Amino acid sequence: MVNKSEERGLKELISAAQHYRGMARTFRSSVGVAFQMWDGKVFGGFNIETYGHKGLHAEEVGIVRALAEGYNGTDFRRMVEIFQDAGHSEVEIFPACFTCWAAMWEWTHPYLEVIVADTEGNSKYSVRLKEMFSQAPPAQIYPSNKIREIKPKINFMPKLPLHSELKEFAKKDPEFEKYCKILRVQI
Ligand SMILES: [Zn+2]
Repeated sequence: MVNKSEERGLKELISAAQHYRGMARTFRSSVGVAFQMWDGKVFGGFNIETYGHKGLHAEEVGIVRALAEGYNGTDFRRMVEIFQDAGHSEVEIFPACFTCWAAMWEWTHPYLEVIVADTEGNSKYSVRLKEMFSQAPPAQIYPSNKIREIKPKINFMPKLPLHSELKEFAKKDPEFEKYCKILRVQI
C-alpha cells in the first residue's frame, strides 16, 4: 500500500524526469531520468547526442551527477525513466538500454527500483533492477561480487547508512548481503 506522501514523492520524481527530458541535447530521441537517493536527493539526467563524441545516455548522466556528490551503490533508492524514440510517434515504454543496465548494475545495486513512465507523466510499471536480468546460476551478471572483491575500486563506499528496506532484502538474499559487505555497508 502506497501512502499519500509517497505518492506525491513519486509524482515529483516523474515531473523531474519530464523536466530533464526537456533538457536533452538531441536531434533524435529524448530521454529523461531522475534518480532519487535514500536521503531524498534527486539527480536528473538527459541524453546528449553528438556529431563527434560517442554521446551520453540519460542514465549515465544521472548516475555521474550522483557519483560526483559522493553517492554510491546502496545510496540509490529509485529511478524514473521516460523514453520516446524519435523514429515513430508512439510512446515507447523502455527501461533503459543494455549498456545502461550494466552501468546501473555496477554503480547502484540489484534492488534499485526502476519506474518507467510515459511522456504524459503516467507511471507504467516498476521493476527491481535484479528482475530485469533473467540469468540463473551458474551464470553471473557482470560485474559479479567476485570481480568486485578481487578488483576493488577506490571511492566506492556508499554515503548513507543502509536503508531498512534494503536491510530486509539483504536478510533474504545472500548475494546482496555479500554485495553490502564488499561495499562495507553495515547491514
Ligand atoms: Zn542507455
